[in-house]
Amino acid sequence: FFLVLEGGDGAGKSTQVEALADWIRAKGHEVVVTKEPGATPVGKRLRSILLDVSSSGLSHRAEALLYAADRAEHVDTVVRPALERGAVVISDRYVDSSVAYQGAGRDLSPVEVARISRWATDGLVPHLTVLLDVAPETARERFTEAPDRLESEPTEFHQRVRSGFLTLAAADPARYLVVDGGQEPEAVTTVIRHRLDQVLP
Ligand code: C5P
Repeated sequence: FFLVLEGGDGAGKSTQVEALADWIRAKGHEVVVTKEPGATPVGKRLRSILLDVSSSGLSHRAEALLYAADRAEHVDTVVRPALERGAVVISDRYVDSSVAYQGAGRDLSPVEVARISRWATDGLVPHLTVLLDVAPETARERFTEAPDRLESEPTEFHQRVRSGFLTLAAADPARYLVVDGGQEPEAVTTVIRHRLDQVLP
């Protein structure tokens, strides 16, 4: 089973990933917790290029391709092997982050960005994507460390990213769960568990 958590910066994805992993393990499943960008050795190098402030002039197409390269390596070496041995994979970000950030956030066509990702992943689609939806203003208050290159983008950028995510979720309600990420973390976990109870044995 392939579960993805999506949402803007500061939406609370990593907190939920940990809480859900413990809960799914307690049900007796092997759980592989992973993330994008940067889950593999090559991915870590790509991540440092992508998030370094010195990359601020990076071409938007090059940026989209580097995220796609990170994703291809991630799917081939981490996600597919784990799914093939029957593990539950929980990924903090996946294709939708590219469609929302490099597509809706930047000036690239979301349809084209989705096409690049489809090729990069050889068509691997999550069984369920949980979108933690939170207003950029609320999310910003949660940053504990200095914001990285993307977190330093203006609020309007993050608003476009947020609508990008919501558009994807609205187009395929059966495969998405949209949760108000502004609630207490425990309340968010409860909503997600309820949905997972219906789809996970
Ligand atoms: O989720 P995490 O904080 O690890 O992501 C690192 C940064 O990369 C975030 O600031 C996020 O906004 C950015 N990002 C992006 N495009 C993606 C994935 C992440 O701009 N496809």
